Formats: sequence, C-alpha cells, structure tokens
Amino acid sequence: MALISPESLDRVKQAADIVEVISAHTDLRRAGARYTGLCPFHDERTPSFSVDAQEKLYHCFGCGVGGDVIKFVEEKDGLGFAEAVELLADRYGVEIEREQEDPRAEARRQQRRRLEQLLERVAAYYSSYLWEAPEAEKAREYLGARGLGAEALRAFGVGYAPSAWDKILVRGQQAGFSPQELHGVGLVQRNRDGREYDRFRARIMFPIRDRRGRVLGFGGRAMRDDQGAKYVNTAETDFFHKSQLLYGVDKAKAAIAKANRAVVVEGYTDVLALHQAGVGEAVAVMGTAITGEQVATLSGMVEEVVLALDADSAGQEAMLRAQRVAAGRKMRLRVAKMPAGEDPAEMMAAPGGPERFHALIDAAVELNAFQVGLVLDRTDVASPVERDRALDEVAPVLAAMGETASRDDLVRQVAERLDLEPAMVMGRVVSAQPLSGGGEAQPAHGGGAGRGDAAPAPQPRRGAELTSRERRERALLAMCIALPEDGRHYLDRLTDAHLSGSGRAAAVWLREHPVEPASNLPDDPELTGLVTELVMLAHDEPASRESMELNFLLLDQRRLEHEIAAAGERDDYEARATLSRERASLVERIARTQRVES
Ligand SMILES: [Zn+2]
Repeated sequence: MALISPESLDRVKQAADIVEVISAHTDLRRAGARYTGLCPFHDERTPSFSVDAQEKLYHCFGCGVGGDVIKFVEEKDGLGFAEAVELLADRYGVEIEREQEDPRAEARRQQRRRLEQLLERVAAYYSSYLWEAPEAEKAREYLGARGLGAEALRAFGVGYAPSAWDKILVRGQQAGFSPQELHGVGLVQRNRDGREYDRFRARIMFPIRDRRGRVLGFGGRAMRDDQGAKYVNTAETDFFHKSQLLYGVDKAKAAIAKANRAVVVEGYTDVLALHQAGVGEAVAVMGTAITGEQVATLSGMVEEVVLALDADSAGQEAMLRAQRVAAGRKMRLRVAKMPAGEDPAEMMAAPGGPERFHALIDAAVELNAFQVGLVLDRTDVASPVERDRALDEVAPVLAAMGETASRDDLVRQVAERLDLEPAMVMGRVVSAQPLSGGGEAQPAHGGGAGRGDAAPAPQPRRGAELTSRERRERALLAMCIALPEDGRHYLDRLTDAHLSGSGRAAAVWLREHPVEPASNLPDDPELTGLVTELVMLAHDEPASRESMELNFLLLDQRRLEHEIAAAGERDDYEARATLSRERASLVERIARTQRVES
C-alpha cells in the first residue's frame, strides 16, 4: 500500500494556513499570540476556542477538543486522514509523494490479520458448540427462558465455551497457532506455574466486535454458581480495549444511522432482546458507565445518545467526562429512567414491553438535567445545611455546561426547588469555575498599535471540572514541553501514583515523543485534546525550573497523603510513621521552594 511520505505530510502542514481553514467555520480574532473565536465543535456564547498559528494547533478550553489542521479537516468535513491530507494538498498546491510501506509494518499487519482469523474461528467454534454439544443444553435453556430466539442468537454469533481446561489450547495449536498467539488474544491464560489453560470455560460466549464486524474479544457468562465472576471479559490485549468498544455496534450501525440515535444499555442479552424486538439501534457498554472513548465512537455516527443504564450507580465522574466529550462533538446525551430491578431484556419478554421501553426512551431527559434532578431528589429542602450541600453538588455540573440557554433554565429550576435567588445559584456556578493553573488571564494586549479587533483571551472554563491535581499536573506537563531538558528529568520522576488517568496517558506520550509532541497526534481524541492543550500552554504560559519543582513536590505530597491513608486503612502503623516523616520533610521543602518562587 502506498503511503503519503512523512516529508509530504510536513509540507502540507507547513503550507496550510490553519487560521484560514478554521475561519471558514468560525470567526477568529487575534488575541495576543493566539486567535480566538466561538468553538465550532460546541455551543457557546463566549469564545473558548483558540488557534495557535505558530504551533499550527487548535484547542478548545471549553470542551477539550484539539488537534492540527489535518485533524480539523478530518473532523469538520468528516474525512479520513489520507483524504484530509489530499484535500489540503490540493488547496495549498502541495505535490504529494507516496512511498512503499515499511516491510515491518506490513509484517505487523499480516500478523494482525492472522490473529483476527484466529478470533473469528474460535467464535465460530463456540457458536457451533452452543447448538450441538450436549453439555451446552443448560445454556440453550437459559437463553430460551430469557426469550431469545435462535435467529437473534445466531445473528450475534452467541456461543458456548466447553468446560474442559484445554479445548481451545489444543485445537488452536492443531490449527497452527502458537500458545503465545492464543495468549496474545486473551483466549488462554497461565497459572502460577506457567501452565497454560483456556480462559473461558463453561460459559455462554458473546463475541465482541468492532464497527466493521471484526471479533476483538469475548464476554462470557457463567453457567454454574461455583464459577466465580458471573461475567468474564477478554483481558485487555493489543486488540481488546474494553473502554473503547460497544457491544453490538456492528449490527446496530445501520439502524443508528437511520434513527440518528443510539440507545446504550448494560448487558449483552439486553442488546439481543432489543434487536429482536425491533430496537436495532441498541448497543451495550461493558460496565455501568459510558466512557469518553465510547462517546467519541458514537459521535461519528449520531447526534443523540440515550443512556438506558442504571444511572444511579454509574460513576458521576465518568458521566461528567462523557458529557464533556459529547459537548465537544455537538452530541446530546440523554438518560432514560429505567425501572429499578428490571432490565431491558426482561422488559422485552413481558407483554407490552417494547411499547413501555419506547415510551421510556422518548421521555429521556438531558444528562445534566438528570444529574441535577438526582441531587435535588435526595435533598431535604427544609434543612439549610442540606440545601447548601445540594448547591455544592450541582454547581460543577452546571458549570460544565458552559454558558448555554439550557443551563440558564436549569439554574432557574434549582433556585426554585431550593427556594433561593437565581443570582445566588449563578454565583455558585461561576465560582465553581476556577481559572486554570497558569496565573491571571492575560490582558488583550496589542504590542504595537491599539488593535480595534482585539478580543479577550478565552477563559479556560473546563477548569471547572478539573481537580486541583489535574490542573497541577497539566501545568507541570506543559512546562516539561516548554523546558524539555528539565522536562525529561521530571517525566522520569513522575509515576502513575502522581498522575490522574489522563495525566498518565499524556506523560507516556511525552516520554515517547520528547521532540515536538504535537507533530504527530495520537489516535485517541481525548489524548489529542490534552496534548494540544499542553503544547499551547507551553507556548504561552511562563515556565521556570522553580515552578516545575514546586508543582512536582505538590503532586508528590498528594501521593504521600494517599499512601499514608492507605497504610492507616490496613493498620500498618510502622509504614504510616515512616511515610509521615517523609511528608514532614517534603512539606519543609515545599515551603522553601515556595519562598524561592515568590
Ligand atoms: Zn469547544
């Protein structure tokens, strides 16, 4: 396959005028070193979208999207990478050169195809085992009792894993696959003595496929009580990333496109039951919360996603993150209030079930309104303390919405329910939006003549949802880019215990791409957003060795606090005492560093 050469790619990026390209979608004004405007990816009234013409990057401090000029064209024109490059090359008159692919990349692709075939064959084996093996009889009965017909079960390739310890191991090797390969795709695992055995035994097997229908892994439901976990998934492999996949998306994509809506449920059998009942746009998450990556997958397909999940138990933080990704992609997230103790599969099997389900989906409310409602319902409005607590809980949710009309509506509702002045509620929302770590907002300066068109620099509203740790780690990581030599030293010292999930991913990226971290962007849109943010912060926030050290020490203090608490929880007083001494000396160093810095 002929690829666009890296040199051509660089030439296209150099030649393309990112300000001009983006200006076709939103009005940009110069603000200091950047250009700013209303974000073309989310709905807002004051600009938080920023373009750095020198670094040739864009980033929205409101919704977190970001990337380079190619990424922008991909997103806005719905093009693939190569198409976006070609379009820009055409427009800016760059001749594209192509090159033969690196033979190692070709070998990797072939190996991947081989493993895909392995997974496909195993799925077919499980499926025929379900229908033919006597030991699968109980499984067939169970599925039948859930109201699932053979047609749906076959369409989704549902199967059964034999109870023997080595069926897949032996048959896989007979078919020419090595134990390492079987291990690599998560079908085989090793015990403490290093002996291999089948990961899935005596379980109903649900093959989990990507959008294009390729099997990447499995979910297995236990058939006996003595089997430990009721559900076991393929372990995370090079193929299988649970947080990115949606069960049933390959079958659902046509219906999703037609309805311009996806319905997200929790279980494999829920998806089957819904498809069987004609709700073809149903997909499932593998857990109780939807992830930002899953939202990103869906956002390429639909403008509206209805969550028919057990929303009370879903992590609030995960919901906020999903909401942020959705807001960044002009997508609505709504929540259907599912009756307690009845899952969609049960509902479908009952008389009138499909109609009830449709009514619930139609009555779904916006995610933010739902979250606010949850808090208000729990609040004893007669108690001033309770009302204050409720206000504390809803303020970040409202702040995360940005300045939108629907937020104003919600603010009014909250004020009414809590019997407060709307202005007072609004005050709390605004104070829940701290500025990001890097000092005061810059004035809209014009170094030369007073520019009439100077706009104020965007306020990083997303700060509202960032924890102080996230703000601190972002400041530090940005400085690692600004001062790469010292940066290397801090990147080495930062461990997972210092960082949040997104911070870890960014640190790994910076370690692997120490030079120009944004010149090739990661595939993951969330990480891309973060990397562009860091590069832009590095470009215009002040960095110094002292403030790097201070930020690092403060992150280290937080890590220590955690370890001290953990030691306390396991009654390890010795460790606690040692850690406390460590903390005392750390606090002293922080005080010294702070004196130097100020
Ligand atoms: Zn935005």
